[in-house]
Order: sequence, then structure tokens, then C-alpha cells
Amino acid sequence: MSNSSLVTYTRISPNKTVMNNKKNTHIVIHHMAGKLTVEQCGSVFAPTTRQASSNYGVDGYGHVGLYVDEKDRSWATSSREIDSKAVTIEVADDEVGGNWHVSDIALQTTIDLCVDICKRNGITSLNFTGDKTGNLHAHRWYSSTDCPGDYLYSKFPYIASEVNKRLSPNYTVDGINYSKVYDYEYYISNNPDVKQIYGTDPAKVFGHFIEYGMKEGRKGNDVFDVNIYKDNYEDLRKAYGNDTPKYYVHYIKWGIGEKRVSSYHIVPVTVRDGIDYSLVYDPKYYWNKYEDLQNAFGDNYDKLLTHFIKWGMVEHRQAKADFNVDVYKSNYHDLQETYGGDIPKYYMHYIKWGAKEHRVADREVRKANVEYYIIKDGDSMLDIAEKYETTVDEILILNNKAFAVGQKIRVK
Ligand SMILES: [Zn+2]
Repeated sequence: MSNSSLVTYTRISPNKTVMNNKKNTHIVIHHMAGKLTVEQCGSVFAPTTRQASSNYGVDGYGHVGLYVDEKDRSWATSSREIDSKAVTIEVADDEVGGNWHVSDIALQTTIDLCVDICKRNGITSLNFTGDKTGNLHAHRWYSSTDCPGDYLYSKFPYIASEVNKRLSPNYTVDGINYSKVYDYEYYISNNPDVKQIYGTDPAKVFGHFIEYGMKEGRKGNDVFDVNIYKDNYEDLRKAYGNDTPKYYVHYIKWGIGEKRVSSYHIVPVTVRDGIDYSLVYDPKYYWNKYEDLQNAFGDNYDKLLTHFIKWGMVEHRQAKADFNVDVYKSNYHDLQETYGGDIPKYYMHYIKWGAKEHRVADREVRKANVEYYIIKDGDSMLDIAEKYETTVDEILILNNKAFAVGQKIRVK
């Protein structure tokens, strides 16, 4: 069982019961009865003499503290039974006494945290019924305390309703349910510009996806990448061209049913992070040459390219018929001097410069009997080549530079 990724501060309290197989089905929201930061709340729960804790704390700045792992029972609610099946949250007040008001940001962060807890624990809805039949509970039902304070307690129906809107939102437009290609949390965490403008309003964020996001090819969830989907299927490209939103709709209506692949390339790809590896990497050649890759990557060409970039180059693997890195290295002394044993650099050199310089990587150009010649005024390169029974191209390869009178060139 995981903890929330919203946590910004961790101080594990000794006041807890380590559990096996704790299943979280409930949430109990408390208040700190004070204007505490998540660090101060952590200090309160640190001494064993305190005999109290909670799984999480939320402070007035919207910071989230972790004090007891979700898998363990916190000592929060004066009831072993409820704490054994609940994730407990302490929320900081911004008013001491009275209604024990909490700040808006603390309230919104509590909602964010509840959504996250529900999603990771498979809690499909958060229900506040005013009694123990729901799964959002209050400390005051278990002992004589006014926790979580009148203000926060009055917000329980609102919290539950906001959480549920985000757990099962209505993503249907014109009869098409976009929930297979869109997830609010994913969209705001991967599109900071959208988060900045609409972050706290799920309906407006979804509106952005519908109006702009799809046209711009943005990813709405982990599964569907419209650019990959487009690359993978020629029939769709013929049908929809550059009308990007249509690919999303196709996936929802038919693609899922047809088990079409939208999260990785099943067609060969050679470009990663703006670098085109095609001069040294032919996906089909690479896949055919190495059985271990066929077994490991099946039809996943993204993983195959990742393998080449991370491991293949380091392991001197050949991924293209006319590029053998060991041959390339042994052919060029200047590269050996620059790159030494750093093999991937030879591949990158060929991509950036070597191919343009007509350098050779598919056969040995170094010979046993090296011969040199000094160019004289009036010499023709063709004559020199004929004299040494070679070609101008071969001499170019051996010397790797332009020619000038007086220059000593290698001819064999
Ligand atoms: Zn409490």
C-alpha cells in the first residue's frame, strides 16, 4: 500500500500499530485544535508519551505531512475499530476556539488528499451520512470531543461532494464519454499552464481539454497518446489526416474494442528527444539481429529504441547494416584520441558529423602498407588515384579533409 504523492514533509511517529492487511475503506478528518504547521504537528506526534498520531496532516499553507504510513493504524480517533480501516487526516485551524475555522487552501488540500486516498485505495465514493453508515467519519462520534470543530464539520458534505465529483466526473460531451482518454489529475499534473489558470476547477480543466487540448495533441491520461496512435495506424491517417480530435473519438468508439495500441509505438521509430538515430539505428535490423531483444520487447518499438540508447550503444551493438561502431573506431585515429573508450560518443559523432564527412563505418579503411604522397602544383587528384590504383573517394576517406598543394596525403 502506498502513501500520497502530495506529501511534502515526513516524520514517522512511533505512536502507531503496525498492521498486516489493513484495508482502508474510510476516512476520518480531524482538526489540530491549533494553528500548527505540518512540521509542528510532526513534533507533537513524535514523543511516545503523547500516545497520539494521524496518518496525515494538512496545514494552513496547503502542505501535507505524513506521520503514519497508510498501511499502519494511527492512534487518532479513540477507536481501534475505525482507525484499523481508516486513513486519518489532521487539518490545521486558522482560528483558535470559536468555530475552529480552517483556511480555504487547507480545505482544498484536504479535498485533494481525500481524492488521492480514494483513488489509491479503491474507494469509489466518499459518503457523508451524518452517522457511521457512511465512510467519511468524524472524531466527535467516537468520544467526547468537538473535533473536527464546528466549521470543518459543517464542510463534510461539501468535502464529500467535491471528492465524488472528481472520482466519477461527468466527462460526456455530445454523447461521447471522454473518460477513457482523460483524467483530471493526470491532465493538471502534466500541463502546468492549465493547472495555473484552471487548476482548482475540474469542469474548466476538462473544458480546456475539449476545446484546446485535443487539437494540440495533449495527453489526457497515461494510456492514450494521440501522436503514437496516429503513427501506429495508417488507415486512421488516411481517414482523418491532421484532424487530431477525431483520433481521440475513434479510440473511444472503436479503437479500444479493436485492441488498438495507443501507449507505445508498434511501428519503427528512430527519433527520441529531438535526436534522429536513423543513421546508426534501423529498428528492424536491430530487432532481427538480436534474439534477446525480440523476446524482451515484442512489438514495442519505443522500448526497443530506449534499449538501444541506454544499453545497445554501450554494448557496441550493431543496429544498422552500414554502421559498425568497432570498425568506425578503428578506422579513425582522430576519434580515438577524442573519445577513447566512450563508445556511445562514436555513434553520436557519426550522426552529427561522420556521415556528412563521408566517413566509413562498414569496412576497414586502414591498410597494412600505408603510403603517402605530397601534392604538387598541377597535380590532378584523378591522376594520383590512378597512379596508386585507388579512387579519389578512397583517398578522401583516408585523409578526411580537402586537398592543397604541398599537403602530404595518405594514398594507401
Ligand atoms: Zn480528532
